[in-house]
Amino acid sequence: MRKVKIFFFPHIAGGHLLPMVDAARFVASHPKVKVTIITTPRNAKIFENAITRDREEAGHDIGFHLLDLDRLKFGLPEDVENTLHSLSAELRYKVFMSVLGLKEPLLGLLETHRPDCLVSDVVQSWTLDVANKAGIPRIAFRGASVFSFCVEDCLRKFKPHENVESDDQPFLLPGLPDPVYMTRNRMPHCQSDPNVVSFFEEIHKAEMDSFAIMANSAHDLEPGYHNHAKTVIGVKLFALGPVSKSSNKTALDKSERGASQSVDDDDMILGWLRSKAQHSVVYVSFGSEASLCKEQFHEIALGLESSGHPFIWVAKSLHYTNPNEPGWFPTGFEDRIKDSNQGLIIKGWAPQLLILDHANVGAFMTHCGWNSSIECLCAGVPFITWPLAVDQFFNESLLVDVLKVGIRVGNEECTYMSATDFKSKVTVTTRDKVEFAVRRILSGDKDVQVMKKNVQILATKAKKAVEEGGSSYNDVYALVDELIARQNPK
Ligand code: UDP
Repeated sequence: MRKVKIFFFPHIAGGHLLPMVDAARFVASHPKVKVTIITTPRNAKIFENAITRDREEAGHDIGFHLLDLDRLKFGLPEDVENTLHSLSAELRYKVFMSVLGLKEPLLGLLETHRPDCLVSDVVQSWTLDVANKAGIPRIAFRGASVFSFCVEDCLRKFKPHENVESDDQPFLLPGLPDPVYMTRNRMPHCQSDPNVVSFFEEIHKAEMDSFAIMANSAHDLEPGYHNHAKTVIGVKLFALGPVSKSSNKTALDKSERGASQSVDDDDMILGWLRSKAQHSVVYVSFGSEASLCKEQFHEIALGLESSGHPFIWVAKSLHYTNPNEPGWFPTGFEDRIKDSNQGLIIKGWAPQLLILDHANVGAFMTHCGWNSSIECLCAGVPFITWPLAVDQFFNESLLVDVLKVGIRVGNEECTYMSATDFKSKVTVTTRDKVEFAVRRILSGDKDVQVMKKNVQILATKAKKAVEEGGSSYNDVYALVDELIARQNPK
C-alpha cells in the first residue's frame, strides 16, 4: 500500500505559520504518512533545520515544495515573505494578496501529485475551490480555539447580541457547555467594517464546507467543546494539539522557533531569568502582529515598574518600526529598569517557548492569541488576559471563566478593524490596571493559588494528549485511517 500523501499549505502570518508547521511535523511522525509543506523559500528556511532533523534523526517522511511569490505584481519588498516581524498594515495586506497569487501554482501541484488531502489554513478560504477543482479533500486548519468556534456558531444561530440594549450589557451565550457571558464590545464582528465581516463570513463558509477541521487543541484543554463541535454543530474535527509540545521537544527546537534572534540572545535571556526567584517573573507579550500605540507603551511601562515585580516585556508593535526611535518609553524608564535589574525588554522576536517553560516565570500577560494561550497552558503558568482583537476575547472567556486559570487586565473593547484604510482604534488600558493585575497574579491570594493549581493540572493533561495513546495522538491515527479508507472505498 502506498503512503498517505498529505499536503500542508500554511498561511504565512506568525500565529498561523508556526502551529501549522508543528502540526505537519506531528502528522509526519505517523509511519504511513508522507508530508509535504508547500511554502515560499524564505519561510522554508525558518524550519529547514528542524525538518532536516525530523528526516535524518527521526526518519520521518517530510519535506518542502517551494513556490515563489510574484513580488513585482504585488509590490512586495525583497526581504518580506511573512508577517513574523512587525510590518505596517499595508505591507501585511500585500503579503496576504501575494499569497492569493499562488492559486494557479497550487492547483497545478494538486493536479500533478494528487495528494490524499490538502490541509490549508482557515483564512485561505479560496483553497477550498482550488482543492475542489482538483478533486482533493480540503481540511481547514484552525489556528484558533474550538471554544471560539462554538461561540461563533452560537452567535450566528441565536444572535443573543441583538437582544441587549447597549454594547456593554452582558448577555448569556445560549447552548454552550458552560454559562458564558459576552458583550457586543468584545465581539470582533461588531467592531469591524462590513468588508472585514464579509471576509470572515467567507472563511467560515469554506471552513464548514471542507472535508474536516484540524485544530491545535486537545480534548482536555477545552472540555466539552470538542464534543459540542462534533455533535451539536456537526463537524468532523481532528484535534492535534498542543502542537508545540508534539514536535518541539528539544531546547534547540524551542530556540529556533519562528524568527529567532540568536543563541547568544537566548542565553542572555535565560541567564537573566535564572537570576530571579522561582515563579516571580511576569512575561508580557502581545504576539507577532498586535498593534499598540505609544500611549499604551507608556502605561504598560509605568504599570510594570510600579508593580515592583520583575518582568520580561516583548515590546514590539506594528507602529514600532524603529526600536531605537525616542518616545516609545517614558523618560528614564529603560535606564531605571536596567540599573535596578527589574526588567528585561526584548525589542525583537522572543524565544517564547523557552521563556514560558522557565521555572522562574510566574505569570503571562498576553493578548490571548490562541498559540500563546495554549503554550501558556502547557507551561502551567497562570494568565493576565489582555485581549485586543479577533478571537482573543473569546479565548479570554475560556481561560478566565471556564478554565479559571487567570485574571483579566480589564480591556473591555475589541479593536476596531478596517479593511480599507488600515486604521484601527484601540482602547488604552491604564497603568493602574496593569500594576493591579501583576500584583494580584503574583500574590499568594487563595483564589490565585487555585488558578495556579488548575493550570498545572491542565499542563499535565496537555502533555499526555500528544503522547502515545493520548487524545491528540489518537486523532493523528484516526485521520490517517480515514484517509486510507478513502483510498480504498468499499
Ligand atoms: N512568538 C514568539 N516570539 C515572539 C512573538 C511570538 O515565539 O516574539 C510566537 C508565539 O510563541 C506563538 C506565535 O508566535 O506561537 C504567536 O501566535 P499567537 O496566536 O499567540 O498570536 P498572533 O501572533 O497570531 O497574534
